[in-house]
Amino acid sequence: MKKILSFLLIAVFIQLPISAQKARLPEIKQLQSPQNPKLGFMIHGGAGVIRRGDLSPEKEKAYRAKLEEALLAGYKALQNGKSGLDAVQAAINLLEDSPLFNAGKGAVFTADGKNELDAAIMEGKTLKAGAVAGLRHVKNPINLARAVMEKSPHVMMIGNGAEQFAKEQNIELVDEKYFFTQERWDALQKVIKQEKEKQIQTPKPEKSIQSPKSKVQVLKTEMPQSVLENPYNKFGTVGAVALDKDGNLTAGTSTGGMTYKKYGRVGDVPIIGAGTYANNETCAVSATGWGEFFIRLGVARDISALMEYNAMPIQQAADRVIKQKLQNLGGDGGIIAIDKYGNMAVSFNSEGMYRAYIDGSGKPVVEIYKD
Ligand code: ASP
Repeated sequence: MKKILSFLLIAVFIQLPISAQKARLPEIKQLQSPQNPKLGFMIHGGAGVIRRGDLSPEKEKAYRAKLEEALLAGYKALQNGKSGLDAVQAAINLLEDSPLFNAGKGAVFTADGKNELDAAIMEGKTLKAGAVAGLRHVKNPINLARAVMEKSPHVMMIGNGAEQFAKEQNIELVDEKYFFTQERWDALQKVIKQEKEKQIQTPKPEKSIQSPKSKVQVLKTEMPQSVLENPYNKFGTVGAVALDKDGNLTAGTSTGGMTYKKYGRVGDVPIIGAGTYANNETCAVSATGWGEFFIRLGVARDISALMEYNAMPIQQAADRVIKQKLQNLGGDGGIIAIDKYGNMAVSFNSEGMYRAYIDGSGKPVVEIYKD
């Protein structure tokens, strides 16, 4: 009997740690590999009148190569376990440094021949955001937007104050000349010339028209037709959205705004909820297009709200806002968006949109045209 008892005791002793270990196992496993290890990454390089044949084969190749490079830089960061913030920043930095896009180097010119840059970044987990506007010397505005989010108690900083903060944060500042590109300068001169000619012929008062499909008054005073018609004048903003290994969503956008914009004009990009928004409960959105319309509609937040309150799938929510509301109001442009499951959406009502994403099998896809 004694023998049996001591055998049982030994057995219980040996078993206990094993069963305790077994009970803990799922927890450990969960910590090491998150339930949603799916990664998602998308970028855009602006929307506008980009039709097949508009770009020379060399230019198209250059756009595609830079988009792919930026996409892969961001995606690799995610694969290496970096946060969505790091991935979005890495991709946007590459696009800001390229003269092909209207952000950082290659920014468009204001009516008085300056470059004024805007950017924003948002973290879906905390709803923290950082935005900057009217910068003239910050090489990579997205870096300053992130610093505003992480290192200041504020969400938005503008102009000289924002640049003072950049100095304090050791963020790279450059001479205004850095942003000059001949192509953007020539585009501004063309608009100025066309505007002068028009004024001589017919001094036009500000028009207020009724959109055919909307009861909302559309104020068509914002930009000269010559700006809107030329794909190179308009758009070229860059943006990125990410779903990282922790299931966090991030959105970031950076721009030079619109050619011939007036001094001090701020577009939708740094307005949280207009051109940039991220919420882990719904989606991350980065927009590009005619900023005034995106501000008036609160485009990015509206897409998120449709998902939150109407349980709408991401593509449907995006199309509702871009192809119906924006379209009816008379604006144009597009968005990229990703939700917490890694579902991605692209929606635009312009002729084309520079965009790239990692598809379901992990491959990079770069697209420019509508179809
Ligand atoms: N949305 C930007 C702005 O209005 C322009 C663009 O997307 O290219 O400032």
